[in-house]
Amino acid sequence: MKYINKKLTVEKTNFQKIANKYGTPLYCYSYTKLKENIINFKKNFNSFSPLICFAIKSNTNLNLLKEIKKFGLGADVVSAGELIMALKAGINPNKIVFSGVGKTSEEINFAIKKKILLINAESFSEIKEINKIAKSKRQKVNIGIRLNPNTDAKTLNQISTGKKENKFGVNKNTFYKIINFCKNSNHIDLKCLSVHIGSQILDYRPYEKMLRAVSIILKKVNHNFEFIDLGGGMGISYSNKDKKLNYKKYNIAILKFLKSHNTKIIFEPGRSIVGNAGTLIAKVIYIKDSERKKFIILDAAMNDLMRPALYGAIHKTLPVIKSNKISKKTYEFVGPICESTDRFLTLNKFQELKEKDLIAICDVGAYGMSLSSNYNLRLKPAEILIKGSKVKVIKKRQKHSDLI
Ligand code: PLP
Repeated sequence: MKYINKKLTVEKTNFQKIANKYGTPLYCYSYTKLKENIINFKKNFNSFSPLICFAIKSNTNLNLLKEIKKFGLGADVVSAGELIMALKAGINPNKIVFSGVGKTSEEINFAIKKKILLINAESFSEIKEINKIAKSKRQKVNIGIRLNPNTDAKTLNQISTGKKENKFGVNKNTFYKIINFCKNSNHIDLKCLSVHIGSQILDYRPYEKMLRAVSIILKKVNHNFEFIDLGGGMGISYSNKDKKLNYKKYNIAILKFLKSHNTKIIFEPGRSIVGNAGTLIAKVIYIKDSERKKFIILDAAMNDLMRPALYGAIHKTLPVIKSNKISKKTYEFVGPICESTDRFLTLNKFQELKEKDLIAICDVGAYGMSLSSNYNLRLKPAEILIKGSKVKVIKKRQKHSDLI
């Protein structure tokens, strides 16, 4: 993304032009960025050719999934809805893993019927349920167990999942019991150990620690795991202050792990594939002057982009048309929703804005549209994919008739 003749431009398309054509709020994805992210991700780990299962929860757009599938990626799903979407995108069931702490019997039945690669179970009760269903179908089902390695991912508390106080996975004692249970079952084939310690991880050391914890446990059990699923969590730079995850070090740690464990690695990345490929364009509806600051009231709100309200996430925000005039007052960018948390960002120095100006909220490709809602009965935005100078609507803006 760069300014060309003062117009913020992605690939060969400027945002003002597309906002005028498609309206705002508008989610825009760059195909080139998406492609670059996938290629780089593969390159980082090409010494052991992992199976890369895109975490669909980060972005569920069907057309985007179809593009991702063309690069040979599989899918990590967490509901029947996501599984249906992955299959609809043409992703091979043999590349789909199903994670999540609360899969219903209907969802387990559906996953078995669709012959997916793995159901990654997260509790003893779930394993027993899978066993019961598989037995009633006289089938043998491939499963994984998600281990809680009690590893601090050193990320936001709200997106940390690998500590013992988190609801995810099973502790090592339960893990040992489950292995014995699976050995005595004719209906379960325990093929995978999975872990996922959190999201937006920028330090490779928690990954090293996680690998050490997994390695110790593997050495204690007499079981061959065909797959070790290391989850996702690789962070991106939301601000210039964010350091970059050292993929080289993570890769070295995995290679070391593979020296003592003969297994195939699975990854479940979401954010690192789509995060920086998406931008949300919003229009300034009103500017309200208060004593200390100006409220920049946008036509985008927390229902369109939940991350700031949900966990105080900060997204870089840029004017769509650049000028040199800097505002004397602090700007607080807010949405129209009746919640005080409907607030995106407060900035001291931003260029002076007028009503009807456009702004770009950056790096919203992951957990942006997928976390959106119809709160306040607001319509979900349209989504477009930009490929050079080509622009394609990949999801239409909702209409009120869709809701009522
Ligand atoms: N796998 C599992 C089990 C998850 O819960 C998540 C997200 O929290 C992911 C993969 C994707 O994480 P990220 O988008 O940070 O790569």
